[in-house]
Amino acid sequence: MISVQNLRKTYRRHANVVEVLKGIDLVIESGEFLAVVGASGSGKSTLMHVMGTLDQPDSGMVMLGPRRIDNLGRSEQNRLRNGTFGFIFQFYHLLPELTTLQNVMMPALVGAGVFNWMGRKREAVRNATEMLERVGLGHRLHHKPRELSGGEMQRTAIARALVAKPKILFADEPTGNLDTDSGKDIVELLKSVNRDQGVTILMVTHNLELVRQTDRVVRMTSGRLGELPVERAVLAEC
Ligand code: ADP
Ligand code: MG
Repeated sequence: MISVQNLRKTYRRHANVVEVLKGIDLVIESGEFLAVVGASGSGKSTLMHVMGTLDQPDSGMVMLGPRRIDNLGRSEQNRLRNGTFGFIFQFYHLLPELTTLQNVMMPALVGAGVFNWMGRKREAVRNATEMLERVGLGHRLHHKPRELSGGEMQRTAIARALVAKPKILFADEPTGNLDTDSGKDIVELLKSVNRDQGVTILMVTHNLELVRQTDRVVRMTSGRLGELPVERAVLAEC
């Protein structure tokens, strides 16, 4: 479904040169739920941003199926990010003045443009409501983010990511700001999205305990990637 070949990236700031990706190869199958673990600063977010076309590699390729995507023009990459890809981040990135329903309707509003919006609004409300019900927030449609728990904010962000029906979901430490139980609930929700909707998921985490639900674990160590058997990852936490 999505793969990278010999991906390299170096950040340069003044005299500082940080080689973040040192030749990464990775193939993710359609329908897979993959965890990327590794210490803070090892390059997990950079890898995910490059795969999701949020950032450019210095060399190497990102392929979506048979198609190279790292070198596409801006509008084609925008289309991928608004349709094929969904993103979830540690700090939710919800708009604070909007209700959960309005936050989840945002992608449709952006996609429609102002002139088409009136005709599409009713359908957008229905889709966003269904998605919020799906993540267990049918009773929180008109709350604002500050009135929600961390877990509920992340569920809202997941609903927003899913409303455009992405094929691949990138989740960068989606439980990084949550307590243990809410974190487990979020990973279970992602697991059910993966199983029931067939969405391919790439989840970055440094919590090894959360990888139980995933199909495969890879570990980033200073810019290089290695396979880590799930059983070993889970044992390492005990
Ligand atoms: P992780 O997500 O595993 O914590 P990152 O991919 O965020 O790691 O970062 C890897 C390394 O690259 C870190 O040393 C970080 O400081 C550096 N880095 C990340 N983004 C930038 C940037 N925009 N400019 C300079 N250095 C960066
Ligand atoms: Mg990171």
